Amino acid sequence: MNTSRVMVIVDGAGKGDYSAWQTLKDAHAVYYETHTPSGMAADSLCCIMTLLGYSRESIPFGRAYLEAVSAGIPVGKTDAAFRLNGVDIRDGRLVSSGICRDVSSLRLPEGMEAFSLSAYRGLLVVSNASELADKIVTYPPHENIGRAVSEMKVRCPDNKLENELNSLYDEGFWPWGQSGYMYLPPYSSIHGRSGCVVTATEIVRGIAVSGGMACPRLGDVTADIDTSLSAKTSAVLEVAGRYDDIYVHINGADEASHRGDPDEKAAFMHRIEDEVIKPLLSELPDGTGLTVTSDHYTDPKTKGHDSVEVPVIKYY
Ligand SMILES: [Zn+2]
Repeated sequence: MNTSRVMVIVDGAGKGDYSAWQTLKDAHAVYYETHTPSGMAADSLCCIMTLLGYSRESIPFGRAYLEAVSAGIPVGKTDAAFRLNGVDIRDGRLVSSGICRDVSSLRLPEGMEAFSLSAYRGLLVVSNASELADKIVTYPPHENIGRAVSEMKVRCPDNKLENELNSLYDEGFWPWGQSGYMYLPPYSSIHGRSGCVVTATEIVRGIAVSGGMACPRLGDVTADIDTSLSAKTSAVLEVAGRYDDIYVHINGADEASHRGDPDEKAAFMHRIEDEVIKPLLSELPDGTGLTVTSDHYTDPKTKGHDSVEVPVIKYY
């Protein structure tokens, strides 16, 4: 049986968020570093890829391709994938970016196919647009609530595709976050070690699947504070020894920060220690390394990400 290294990635937790943990006294090392590549904005995708050992060059521009991979939606080598939100537009302004709409009601031109992911989130696959993906300008809807839609028209070097994408607004759908087909070097070829990622977050699942890592399906996980943390702990204990490197991604602290709720975040951090860290410390096979860190800090005051240094806690 191999001994594994386990890394718990607590999304959005900063230095102060760990300070109440009783297990810190058991750590043999705590240091601070940023996982945001220089010149990039602190988002989960680039920070988690950095933690997995991917170089800055292999980090994709948009997220949609990885989300498609995660959902098992086929994206061919010449296709582009877009995220597709259900939106509410009133008096020419974007009012909401989280409207549940049935993508099957969409009348799409040839070469476009839409898929539902969950609730208000969908994906649009556009054939023969892979090369164009980086040159198309789209706007993240959740960051542009209240703004005039006329200022946020999709711009694309191909006029026909530009018109087709803009016509989706009229049907209450918002294409954004596009990316073309992407090759990610296998994790095992970078490290010479096998990898497994325990996560319920689609983008993280997309990285894992694209990088040829194992990514077990979990029950009762929600990628928010109502998740079953014990389901994640059990999944780690189940695969311990079967892979060289095991990553556990926990998303709820980031979600609580985006909601601007420090109390909710603190309560969830407490749960992580009780339901993940303590059981792993006592139940992982002897010799297994356990590290806890964050991808980036998310500040409940600003509700935004920050590239400041975050703790790296090494238990053994
Ligand atoms: Zn994150």
